[in-house]
Amino acid sequence: MNKNILMLWYYTVMPIDENFDFDCPHCGSANSLPIDITGGSRQSLVVDCETCCAPIIVRLRLSGDEIVSVDVRKENE
Ligand SMILES: [Zn+2]
Repeated sequence: MNKNILMLWYYTVMPIDENFDFDCPHCGSANSLPIDITGGSRQSLVVDCETCCAPIIVRLRLSGDEIVSVDVRKENE
């Protein structure tokens, strides 16, 4: 995967596991985020990168127990 990409879109339907793995848009490090399927079908979360501590905006769309799309981007973009 291109580590320099700023925004990643996932359109493939993924089964929800306990954690969602994504790459930090700031430093490219792998992060993992626990998914709360009780949080609704559209979720917008701000998490701090485990490596560089920069804020990352993660938007999730869920359908039932599947992830239908994920948007990972830097804050203020
Ligand atoms: Zn980072």
